[in-house]
Amino acid sequence: MCNDNTVDKLKNEFHYTLSKFSHEIRNPITLINSGLQMIASAHPEVQEYKHWDDIMDNLDYVKDLLDELSAFNNANRITPKSTDVCSYLKTILSSVKPTLDYLDITLETDIPDSLPVMMLDQIKIRQMLLNLLKNAWEAVPVPGGKITVSACPKNPGISINIQDNGCGISPEQQATIFQPFFTTKENGTGLGLAVSKRIIEAHNGTIDITSDHTNGTIVSITLPA
Ligand code: ADP
Ligand code: MG
Repeated sequence: MCNDNTVDKLKNEFHYTLSKFSHEIRNPITLINSGLQMIASAHPEVQEYKHWDDIMDNLDYVKDLLDELSAFNNANRITPKSTDVCSYLKTILSSVKPTLDYLDITLETDIPDSLPVMMLDQIKIRQMLLNLLKNAWEAVPVPGGKITVSACPKNPGISINIQDNGCGISPEQQATIFQPFFTTKENGTGLGLAVSKRIIEAHNGTIDITSDHTNGTIVSITLPA
């Protein structure tokens, strides 16, 4: 049986190894990327080669994976700042509106002015909300996709709900979706929910998911003041 100290030590070692690996892989990937860009500008005809786009897509995937691995590693290191939650949430939602309009997905929002001022790591909470919104827009049907984001004061703190009318998550999958690298998507990294959970827990908050294949998914977050 492992005691709490041993578990913490193993977790720290795991995160240290992960960060070393990401760092060691990122350098050659950056070199390969700039090498390919040099080849493409010196010999533009290589871009006509039938596998060129696949190579670039795979490279983009590895870069995304490394970014998400470092987000996962850093998720629990937060720098909270005093935040007017109402205008903060409205700004994040307006920033995703053009993408959702482009994808023909309806975004409904209910963000009351009465939300409190809270201490939040603004970069990480934004990252968490964007992860959850991306999952929602990847799940909804097109056309007919709809995402509803609502927030309300919850003493002490706030609760935020992100609801979608997407494909939903089966009960078996719900047991594993927060595990790092669990994905049902061809190009998924399986890190979005794991990172989001770590960010929320670093703020002493909670995340719960209610989902079925008929009604879609509701992600409920609470963040204490
Ligand atoms: P990724 O998006 O890279 O697959 P995530 O950790 O963000 O990784 O999500 C893990 C899995 O959880 C997804 O592959 C998907 O199966 C499921 N999932 C998460 N959010 C939703 C949602 N809103 N609707 C349906 N399935 C979801
Ligand atoms: Mg995701």
